[in-house]
Amino acid sequence: MREYMKERRLKRRGQIIELLGGACAQCGDIEDLQIDHKDPTTKKFKLSGKGLDGSWDCILSEVKKCQLLCKKDHGEKSRFETEAMAPHGTVTRYLKYTCRCDACKSAYAKKRKRYPSRQSNYGVSA
Ligand SMILES: [Zn+2]
Ligand SMILES: [Zn+2]
Repeated sequence: MREYMKERRLKRRGQIIELLGGACAQCGDIEDLQIDHKDPTTKKFKLSGKGLDGSWDCILSEVKKCQLLCKKDHGEKSRFETEAMAPHGTVTRYLKYTCRCDACKSAYAKKRKRYPSRQSNYGVSA
């Protein structure tokens, strides 16, 4: 990547953090800050990497939907979001988050019953 692009991204990230108050919205920490979309469903693009190459106006409208969180609080929020999007007792939770609790296992078992995998027919000639 060209050096000036990298520098511009860094500079923009700094500006965004300043705009958002420069501290974690949860605990006020000023280190390890991450830009977080308050409501992930409103997210158009990530405010990192390539997301910082677009027009500043575009970026600003995205910044309005964001807050700053420290690493710890961001991790916690992501966990809650996982909980909301893929609660226990869903196949998503079983496959994507490899949860093996009873509720998830039975959801997966039910799905397998409904859509028997082709493998179970292996070796059976028609
Ligand atoms: Zn925090
Ligand atoms: Zn589970």
